[in-house]
Order: sequence, then structure tokens, then C-alpha cells
Amino acid sequence: MNILIFGPNGSGKGTQGAVVQKKFNVVHVESGVIFRENIKKGTEIGKKAKEYIDRGELVPDSITIPMIISRLQESDCAKGWLLDGFPRSIEQAKALDEALAKARMKLDYVIEIVLDRETAKNRIMGRRLCANDNNHPNNIFIDAIKPVEKNGKLVCRVCGGELSARSDDQDETAIGKRHDIYYDTKTGTLAAVNYFKEVANKKGIKIIELDGKPGVREVTEELMKKLG
Ligand code: AMP
Repeated sequence: MNILIFGPNGSGKGTQGAVVQKKFNVVHVESGVIFRENIKKGTEIGKKAKEYIDRGELVPDSITIPMIISRLQESDCAKGWLLDGFPRSIEQAKALDEALAKARMKLDYVIEIVLDRETAKNRIMGRRLCANDNNHPNNIFIDAIKPVEKNGKLVCRVCGGELSARSDDQDETAIGKRHDIYYDTKTGTLAAVNYFKEVANKKGIKIIELDGKPGVREVTEELMKKLG
């Protein structure tokens, strides 16, 4: 099972992605996570990517596209993958489509979480990352996934792990830039979504559209229903 998941930053894409990953037991490939790991390890890719990420800009295609395409060809991805955070532009969508055709990999599902820009922005500002597991959802503005207090400090509601805010999550200008890219239907991420919608029939790809407004649990239920 090979799946793409789309949604603006703040739509709960990572959380729903983790659910899909478990359901189908596929590898969760997240471009943003791969970049952050590279930054942490101080690799060449990490050094080059950091300045773009901090500004909320896309890392150049010359770095991103080969990094993702080669990741999908690693042996663990043979059992299926869920790609999250890529493609983010029409160019990346075309590059992925071509690479998949070449590798004879079929795309089974495209999941799109639909959420308005204002709601997405507020959710991002409240988001906190768990040091133990990137997929433990915590958000200080969403009651259902509020972190818990321990010794006067907010900790992960799932495992009690240490929490931090991503620096690019607290910068309104950077958030605005990321959303400009996402909501751009000409060349940005929504253009990439539309690209796959257009070829869906011909290529046998199932499209799943989800309303991202309700709470995490409701969105998950809707997703499970539509995945069958
Ligand atoms: P994310 O964790 O998905 O929000 O990604 C964090 C940052 O990594 C983005 O703001 C970009 O700077 C970079 N990034 C992630 N995915 C891509 C991509 N497909 N193309 C270019 N840059 C990306």
C-alpha cells in the first residue's frame, strides 16, 4: 500500500498519518522529519536545509527530490509507504509521478485534509513536540490533546516526555510563508494535490478528502470509514 497524505501545516496531518501508518503497517516517510534528523546530526543535507527551514521556505528541489526518491527505494519501503510533506509543489508532484512510474510503484491512495488557513495557523502556534515520539500529539490550544502538568512543567500527555516548540512554529512570518506555499493552487501544494486528482482515474488512485475542522478523534473515524 503506497499512500500520499496532504494537509496544511496545522491540519493534524502528522497525527492522522500515524494512524494510517499503523493501520497498513507501512513506513511513514516525512520529509520534514528527515530534514530535522539531518540538522540534528549535522549532515551536509542538514547544513544546507536549515536556513530555508528556519525562514519557512522550501528546501531547493535539487536537495529534496533525490533525498525523497532514494528514501522510497530503500528496502524497508518495499512493504509500502506513507509519504507526508512531499510533494509540496507541482514540480515535486511531477517528479514523484515520473519516479514512481519508472520504479513501477503504484500509488493507492491520496488523502487530503481540508482546513482553512486561520484555523491551521492557530493550531500550529499551540503545537508542542514530544522528545520521545514525534507522533505523540500535544497542543496547548486544543483541549483533546492538551499536554499535562508535571512538577510545574508541561509534559507529553501520552508518555510524560519533555516537550518543545519547533522554532519555525512560533514565527508568524514563517508560518505565513509555509501557508502561502500550501494554499497556492497554481504551483504550490494544492496544485500538487490537484495534479494527482486529475490523474487519479487513469492511474487507479483513490482520493480521500477529509474535513480537518472537527477534533482529532472525529477526523480519524471519518478517515477509517473512507479507507474501508
Ligand atoms: P514540515 O515538518 O513538513 O512542516 O517541514 C518543515 C520544513 O522542511 C518546511 O517548512 C520546509 O522548509 C522543509 N521541507 C519539508 N518538506 C519539503 C519539501 N517537500 N520540499 C521542500 N522543503 C521541504
